[in-house]
Amino acid sequence: MACRFCPQDRLVKSYPKGDARSLTPEAFRMILGRVPRHVRLDFSGMAEPWLNPDATSMVVAAFEQGRAVALYTTLQGMNPDDATMLIHRYGERITPETPWVIHLPDADGHMTGWKPSETYREALRRFLGFRDAQLGPGLGFMTMSADGSVAAPLRDLLPEKLAPFAGISRAENLDRSAFQPGALLRAVRHDQALLCGSTPFFDHNMLLPNGDVLLCCMDYGRQHVIGNLLRESYEQIHAGAAIGVIRAHAMMPGQGDLLCRRCHNAVCLSQQGGTHWHLAGASMWAPVVTAAPVPSPEHVSRPRLRRVLDRVLPL
Ligand code: SF4
Repeated sequence: MACRFCPQDRLVKSYPKGDARSLTPEAFRMILGRVPRHVRLDFSGMAEPWLNPDATSMVVAAFEQGRAVALYTTLQGMNPDDATMLIHRYGERITPETPWVIHLPDADGHMTGWKPSETYREALRRFLGFRDAQLGPGLGFMTMSADGSVAAPLRDLLPEKLAPFAGISRAENLDRSAFQPGALLRAVRHDQALLCGSTPFFDHNMLLPNGDVLLCCMDYGRQHVIGNLLRESYEQIHAGAAIGVIRAHAMMPGQGDLLCRRCHNAVCLSQQGGTHWHLAGASMWAPVVTAAPVPSPEHVSRPRLRRVLDRVLPL
């Protein structure tokens, strides 16, 4: 199973041959001990978490440590009884900052290879029942369709249309030639100094099963491997040479082949003739304080872009 909006082919090609394909519970426990408690743990893409048969036990371990946890899943591979257990034990910890997002197959066939099964339908039924019984925000259902209709075999469970979806190119890791015009937001190129719209510290990173830590969830081509949590501490990684190069290139206008320069989630900075940096666009972590306008993608409004990114970034 694959989603057309996730460039998993790039990851498969760049992933070291012979390295672990799934994270083991032992490796996860070791890594959990290395990741500081302020770091939210997302069980999410670049692949479906529940294709790992130990996913539920790892999620439980994270919750039981009192960690902030977010879940992003297609439900593929999730046992309905595990769904019920997670909902009952941890459902009250769903918040907008720690969401659970269910990515459903759509009527346009973007989730290639998905096959309906009674197990899948039952897991979905349990999450829908939870949605109907609770009032709080944070549990979301989405497709990757501009129309928002779920696949026909699920429409009796979810007849209403979900929010329309517009895709991002994952910092141009997706092959645009495979998409209809308009299916993806247009390409961007940032030549100014910049930061990540999710964090000012480049610390929304992605862990792979072999322990490698990538810059972020855009980096399907493994362009920026900043360290390895099976061999290094979190502090060593964030004081290391690889992240140092990223920070230096981000700071210098026009510098380097940094992934962020072609990412919709980057926020540019400018000194505009002065000596202090000012953000030129919306971020998740700071209000915008501009000295003067700095060019930003003119073809898509910032609020719309923010809505798109909020939904797809951690996938
Ligand atoms: S700006 Fe984009 S590419 Fe850069 S760290 Fe943030 S999400 Fe990743």
